[in-house]
Amino acid sequence: MLNSRIPGKNFLFVPGPTNLPDRIVRAMSVASEDHRSPTFPDLVKPLFPGLKKVFGTDKGHAFIFPASGTGGWEAAITNTLSPGDKVLAQRFGQFSHLWIDLCKRQGLEVIVQEREWGTGNDPELIEEALKADKNHEIKAVLATHNETATGVTSDIAAVRRAMDNAKHPAMLFVDGVSSVASIDFKMDEWGVDVIVSGSQKGFMLPAGLLLMAASQKAIDAGKSNKGRRAYFEFQDMIAQNANGYFPYTPSVPLLYGLKESLSILFEEGLDQVYKRHHHLAEGCRAAVAAWGLKCCAKEPKWNSDTVTAIVVPEGYDAAKVIETAYKRYNLALGAGLSEVAGKVFRIGHLGDLNELMLLGAIAGAEMAMLDNGIKVTPGSGVAAAQAVYRANPLLKM
Ligand code: PLP
Repeated sequence: MLNSRIPGKNFLFVPGPTNLPDRIVRAMSVASEDHRSPTFPDLVKPLFPGLKKVFGTDKGHAFIFPASGTGGWEAAITNTLSPGDKVLAQRFGQFSHLWIDLCKRQGLEVIVQEREWGTGNDPELIEEALKADKNHEIKAVLATHNETATGVTSDIAAVRRAMDNAKHPAMLFVDGVSSVASIDFKMDEWGVDVIVSGSQKGFMLPAGLLLMAASQKAIDAGKSNKGRRAYFEFQDMIAQNANGYFPYTPSVPLLYGLKESLSILFEEGLDQVYKRHHHLAEGCRAAVAAWGLKCCAKEPKWNSDTVTAIVVPEGYDAAKVIETAYKRYNLALGAGLSEVAGKVFRIGHLGDLNELMLLGAIAGAEMAMLDNGIKVTPGSGVAAAQAVYRANPLLKM
């Protein structure tokens, strides 16, 4: 339930779901229609080339499943691997952890490389493990492009280079749930075999669409493996999508929303979308520095342009800051998850967002910290972000 005691807009600054642009809300306000009508393909067919552009692929297949990102993890592995197959994954946050957990539940053998939370994928460790795997038993490497729990972005091109250096044939599966459509993603250039994303973050839609793409290598892997799948079968989708239909009932309003989302992204231009996210994130990071606090990301190279996880000083409870922000100021901040629960709060800065909106969240976080006794200088975070934004206004970028 939204905090209805405070009039005005709820400030939604969790890292997904993100704000819905009015254009998308209007586009989704449609009557029900026959998803097997002769004109339905006119809506469906153009969605795939649009999605492929966002994923950075000419060669891959794009998929739209009625599901969320978690379903994408499952679709990736069940379509391509058999129970008992080995995969290599690094754990450095709640989402990389959950994908590992899902793989185990699906009967895969997961070689887990533990990494400090606040860091990301380490290509050297991946290269080492692949070189040691002389018999090529590792079938896939799982990478998390943007670890939403800690605000960490990993270098997927470097992961690919590590795999190539090891001359290992494993496939590369990437979680891009909180990066795609906000941070540049180059599926073909980086040799990614499966990329998983969801509708509720950079695509500015409600949750409900699993948006993903697979390389021909990943699709071919499905022909011989014994992974159990039915709902997520790539082949059923490919066969129906070719004619502009789905194997089962799609969410028609969400498809209209996706059409609008792609229009919005392409009107702004994907490069500008990525620049805007970086610019907004820089303001947020300047605020954190001015507060005298630290990001959960251990080094600047890990900084995420879609979410900043802010570590509260020792002895303070980040959950209280989040509660105060919500109850007093109608501001929804992201919670600290699992290992960082109570230690961090997160500001999501992705999707349909501009400088003044983010300044509102920074101001609210600042007030909520002060209310909880955290000694930040009033106005310092806002002033620091303002300086970043004034030095380089969005429209001139
Ligand atoms: N992966 C990442 C990086 C995420 O941030 C999330 C959700 O926040 C997920 C996967 C899971 O996606 P969903 O909640 O759409 O199932």
